[in-house]
Amino acid sequence: MTEDTLAERKMQFLFALRSKGVTDMRVLTAMEKVDRGLFVRGLFAERAYEDTPLPIACGQTISQPSVVGLMTQALDVSPRDKVLEVGTGSGYQAAILSQLARRIYTVDRHKRLVRDARQVFEALDLANITAFTSDGSFGLPEQAPFDRIIVTAAAEDPPGPLLAQLKIGGIMVVPVGQSDTVQSMIRVRRHEQGFDYDEIRPVRFVPLVEGLAPDS
Ligand code: SAH
Repeated sequence: MTEDTLAERKMQFLFALRSKGVTDMRVLTAMEKVDRGLFVRGLFAERAYEDTPLPIACGQTISQPSVVGLMTQALDVSPRDKVLEVGTGSGYQAAILSQLARRIYTVDRHKRLVRDARQVFEALDLANITAFTSDGSFGLPEQAPFDRIIVTAAAEDPPGPLLAQLKIGGIMVVPVGQSDTVQSMIRVRRHEQGFDYDEIRPVRFVPLVEGLAPDS
C-alpha cells in the first residue's frame, strides 16, 4: 500500500466512525492515534481500516471499529479510572482505553491471544496495560473494585462477579443475549442502592465462554 492510499484509508476510517455516531473527541483522537493495522495479522491486515470485524487467531474476532468507538464512548472513562476489560482478543480495545484511563487490566481465556496482544502493547509502549490469561467471567478479584468494566464477549446476563467488582458510581458496558441471535449492548451503572440498566444498541459478539481455552 502506498503512503497516500494508507492516509486516505485512515481518513475514511475516521469518517466512518463519525457517521456511525462516534462523536466524543477524546475517543476519536485515541482511535486516530492507535493504528488498528498493528492488531490484525496475515491475510486480513489489508482490511484493517474498514469498519468491519475481522478474524484473529483462536477463532475469535477483532470488533468492528465503530462498535469499539461506541462502547468506549458509553463507558465514559476519565483519566483517573482503573478499567477491567474482559476479552482481550487482539488487544485493540484495550489499546484505545489505554489512551483515556489511568490503568487497564485485560483478560482473555486464550493464552495465545494474550501473548500476541502483549507484544503489540510493548511495541507501542503502552505501559499502563496489564494482560492476563484468565476466565473473565469471575472478573479480577485481586485488582477489584474497578471504576469501569467493559466486556467484549456476549453473556446471557451481566455476570454477577463483575457486578460485584464495580465501584459505586462505576459503569459497566456489556453485550447481553444468546450468541446466535441479536444481542443488545447495555450500560450498567452502580449506585448506592443498586444498579440501573440502559440499552445502547443491538450488537453481535462472540460468546463469553466459561473456563480457560484448552490450549491455555
Ligand atoms: N476486545 C477484543 C475483541 C474481543 S473478541 C479486541 O479489541 O480485539 C472476544 C474475546 O473474548 C475472545 O478473544 C475470547 O477468547 C474472549 N473470551 C470469551 N470468553 C471469555 C472469558 N470467560 N474470559 C476471558 N475472555 C473470554
